[in-house]
Amino acid sequence: MPAQLIDGKALSLRLRADIARRAAVLAKRGTTPGLAVILVGDNPASQVYVRNKVKACEDAGIRSVLERYDADLTEAALLARVAALNADPTVHGILVQLPLPAQIDSHKVIGAISPAKDVDGFHVASAGALMVGANGFKPCTPYGCMQMLASIGMQDLRGKHAVVIGRSNIVGKPMALMLLAANATVTVCHSGTADLGALTRQADIVVAAVGKAGVLTADMVKPGAVVIDVGMNRDAAGRLCGDVDFDGVRQVAGWITPVPGGVGPMTITMLLMNTLQSAEQRT
Ligand code: NAP
Repeated sequence: MPAQLIDGKALSLRLRADIARRAAVLAKRGTTPGLAVILVGDNPASQVYVRNKVKACEDAGIRSVLERYDADLTEAALLARVAALNADPTVHGILVQLPLPAQIDSHKVIGAISPAKDVDGFHVASAGALMVGANGFKPCTPYGCMQMLASIGMQDLRGKHAVVIGRSNIVGKPMALMLLAANATVTVCHSGTADLGALTRQADIVVAAVGKAGVLTADMVKPGAVVIDVGMNRDAAGRLCGDVDFDGVRQVAGWITPVPGGVGPMTITMLLMNTLQSAEQRT
């Protein structure tokens, strides 16, 4: 029997309806949750991401302010904008779309965002909070993956082995920490891993966050496993696809997330959730 789908679009719709309801409650009390989005330059992928985030905010009753700057913006000017947004009480979340142009140090800019408004969860203070189990904003993509697991009744992962493929600061590493916090046994793989399939075949949960189509094939998956596909790639025909060989793996796995319609919408949903929670905390 083919794997059941974990439908990120449908789960997002449910969560966004709840976010909209809570945003309306706050608005009645005089606080409209606000997200500031900064886009520097004209990277086409970034423009699409930013447009989707702004639209999702509007739909959920979150005020979004999109600030666009030319690619030659100086680092000092961007840091000054971030400082102004940190001080603005109508702004509850600040998102600086990455990548930034070469003349700007993105670590410095992310580090300048107030941790209380770091709704992307990329600040070292947010990463540190995740590490030690303190309160802080969780990075949206792995946070969304955890929600997808919860949606199929997998909250407590005690006794489960999760394999994460990828160790980036924004997906792989925080994903591993969140799985650990949910009591899973976690293995993190990367480009230096000798025999990926030998590890993934032992996994009850596989999270693929690599950025290469076809990294996970059917022969690498234990029957019945949960497969979460974070990857966003283009196939030979130019269609959006994930890291997982969906058609093959679907015949073996118990659950699988599609691309598109899986992790992507959940990432935006968790951005809305973080922004809402930031506003709730300060109301
Ligand atoms: P990244 O920074 O490029 O990290 C990729 C990771 O994959 C690295 O840790 C790398 O290992 C590892 N890797 C590369 N080739 C491998 C191989 N053959 N076997 C095992 N591991 C391998 O990418 P990222 O920012 O984490 O993003 C990963 C993917 O997720 C991309 O497709 C991105 O577009 C997508 N993404 C999607 C969303 C969403 O909302 N759906 C959000 C964020 C990212 P090394 O560390 O050794 O180099």
